[in-house]
Amino acid sequence: MDCLFCKIINREIPATIHYEDDEVIAFDDINPKAPYHFLVVPKKHISTLNDVTDEDVPLVGKLVQIASQLAKKVAIAEDGYRTVFNCNADGGQVVFHIHLHMLGGKKFSS
Ligand code: 5GP
Ligand code: ZN
Repeated sequence: MDCLFCKIINREIPATIHYEDDEVIAFDDINPKAPYHFLVVPKKHISTLNDVTDEDVPLVGKLVQIASQLAKKVAIAEDGYRTVFNCNADGGQVVFHIHLHMLGGKKFSS
């Protein structure tokens, strides 16, 4: 499958990995929009949020849990951080394998 994040999961493309287990991987965004910008990605290829099934719900919840664990690990949890899923064209999605952006280390405006 010609999917950038599947290639990172399969170690065909390098990335700076901060977390990995059987279901989830988290790595630095190559073009960070904040001092910390992690992408938390399920190993299962799911193209968009619209493709999440009932059986995927625990997996998507786990992405949120891993994002919060990473925030604690880099000591920004108390200051706060932003998490974002982009979906399809109007959402600005460019990689069609779902991923949770975790951005922190700066103050975002609302
Ligand atoms: P999207 O807009 O689809 O929500 O976000 C895709 C993200 O993937 C972007 O923030 C972009 O910087 C990041 N990205 C694109 N290509 C690569 C890559 O080869 N490696 C890594 N680590 N991130 C990438
Ligand atoms: Zn994929």
